[in-house]
Order: sequence, then C-alpha cells, then structure tokens
Amino acid sequence: MTVRDDKNLELVIEMLLADPAHTENPLRYPLQDLYQEFRGLLRQIDRITRISDGYQSIARDEKLGLTERYHKQLRQLEKIARISDRYQSMMRDLNEELKAASIKDALTGIGNRRMLMDCLAAEAARADRMGRPMTIALADVDRFKKVNDAYGHETGDKALVKIAEAIRGAVRDYDLCGRWGGEEFMIIMPEIGATEGALVVNRVRDAIAGLDMRIGEQALELSASFGIAERRQDETVSEAINRADAALYEAKRAGRNRVEVAG
Ligand code: GH3
Ligand code: MG
Ligand code: MG
Repeated sequence: MTVRDDKNLELVIEMLLADPAHTENPLRYPLQDLYQEFRGLLRQIDRITRISDGYQSIARDEKLGLTERYHKQLRQLEKIARISDRYQSMMRDLNEELKAASIKDALTGIGNRRMLMDCLAAEAARADRMGRPMTIALADVDRFKKVNDAYGHETGDKALVKIAEAIRGAVRDYDLCGRWGGEEFMIIMPEIGATEGALVVNRVRDAIAGLDMRIGEQALELSASFGIAERRQDETVSEAINRADAALYEAKRAGRNRVEVAG
C-alpha cells in the first residue's frame, strides 16, 4: 500500500465503523478494537518522540493521515535509537579513557600508585595460586632535591620523565613498573626470585645512570638506589614492600646508585 492510500484506508475504516448498515457485522468489533489500538500506539510514539528530542512538528503532523504519521514517527524513532546507540558507545569509550587515566601518572605516563596496588594484589594472588615466585623492587632517585635546587622544579620534572622512560625500557616485557610517589618508583617482577630480579634491576640502574641529560653545557648526573625483596610464602604484600624499603635504605647508606637485596 502506498502512503497516499493510507489516508483513504483510515477514512474507509471510520466510515465502515460509523455505517449503521454494519452494526451486525461480526468483524466490526475486532476492527474497532484494532483501530483504537492503533491510535493508542500512535499516541504513545508521539509522546516518546516529543520527550526524546523536543520534536516540534507533531502538531503540524496532525493534518497528516494516521498511518502516514505512524510511518514518519517510526522513522523518527529509528533516528533517535541510532543517536542513542552512538551516545552509548561514546559513553563506553569515555569510561574506558577515564579508567585508563585514573591508573596513570600524569607527569611520566607510567602507572601510578593505584595501578601498582592493583597489580600487586593481582600478582600476589596469581603467585600463590601457581606456587610461583614474585619479586618487588623500590627505586628512589639519588639526591634529587639537589637537582630541583640547582636547575629548578621544571627540569626536575623532565628528569623524572626520562627516568620513568629508562625504567620502562630496561625491564622485561612481563614486569610492571609505576611511580610509587615523588621521586620513587616500583618494579613488580612476576615469576622470578631475588637473584634474577637483581639482574633486571641492575639493568635499570645502569639505564638511569647512563641517561644523557643536559642543561646548556652542563650534564646532569642522575642515578637511583634500589631495594629488592622476593615475596616470602605467606607474607603480605606490604610486608614484602617494607623489606624492599629497608633494603633501599641500606643502598642509600652504602653510597647510593646501588642495588640491595633484602635478607
Ligand atoms: P636521597 O638520595 O636521600 O633520596 O636524596 P633526595 O634529595 O632524593 O631525597 P629527599 O627525600 O630529601 O628529596 C626528594 C626530592 O624529590 C624532594 C622533592 O621536592 C622532589 N620531588 C618529589 N616529587 C617531585 C616531582 O614531582 N617533581 C620534582 N621536580 N621534584 C619532586
Ligand atoms: Mg624519596
Ligand atoms: Mg631521593
């Protein structure tokens, strides 16, 4: 049926229903119900489109036949559904971006403390489940206050970015690294014990000490000290971190730019 016929169809239905000659026709009541149902449906669609997007032309459309209006409203609803799908997928993308940003350190772009905490819990659970070792390293940049004092906070920030890149570049693919806070970083090394962990961390130490950062003619000497702890069986993550921290303190005391393994 063409759209132009729609109006005729409604007229025909209304005439048939009004015609006293058909009062006895058994099809009259079902037809009347169907017609009422159709009009009710149209009213509902009108309401939805009006609520959804402030659809202005409903009053004008009242001049159109009901079926024409129905088709027009359906097209409008399809459009609204498409827009709503697009919004939903935008919201999903935004949510993912927000989640990614919430676990990333704004200055260096590597994981932040929250990401490290999440990873520590997940890796410890995995290590327990699989009966595998896991090693944690804490790093603290040496005499960093002097860098800030001599060259300014902005240069200090640039140095932190370079240090973070050096750490990320020197660890293994399955290691996780992040900024623990200030000028402190953490490396989580799944699947390995303290001896192998010390090899990885010494590579990181070399990478930081070998950074070539210049302020004009002046070369900036950067280094970091490290404390390593292999998580013991039945030891909590924070106990292991405390031992790594104590080892880091030892590395500082022993002269800095060193790696110490917790006993
Ligand atoms: P040590 O070898 O004993 O670790 O000496 P240090 O100077 O690094 O230790 P201290 O804890 O006294 O100083 C840490 C410095 O790191 C002080 C603080 O201003 C600086 N710092 C921490 N976070 C940032 C940051 O985001 N940007 C900059 N530029 N400096 C920071
Ligand atoms: Mg510190
Ligand atoms: Mg320091």
